Amino acid sequence: MSLPNQIEPLSDDVVYICNNSDCVDDATYSYCVEADSMGAEYEYYCDEHIEEISQAQRNTVGNCDWCRVEDVPLSPVRDFEEGLSGPVYWVCTECKKQQLISDRDEDDDDDDDEYDD
Ligand SMILES: [Zn+2]
Ligand SMILES: [Zn+2]
Repeated sequence: MSLPNQIEPLSDDVVYICNNSDCVDDATYSYCVEADSMGAEYEYYCDEHIEEISQAQRNTVGNCDWCRVEDVPLSPVRDFEEGLSGPVYWVCTECKKQQLISDRDEDDDDDDDEYDD
């Protein structure tokens, strides 16, 4: 399951042209623009242009949705308890780390999707 801003290498059997409008190179990475319960939306970039995106991403700074600390680098996460259809939160690295730790504790991995809209 992808999260917004997630960058993943493309496998060899998919061919896209870099989404940068000035570029005609083959894309080597997918970049997740949006992800929600309906699915994810991707853009595709070559080595050079994915680098620009990941640079910009590293500069994503704001207020943590969970602990409310201000002006920190943020990463998108989902609250596991709300499942894959839950909202995406932007949290600081500390909150993200905490979530990974608590995820490892409870190891129930069911794939039930909850539809409550
Ligand atoms: Zn490119
Ligand atoms: Zn936080």
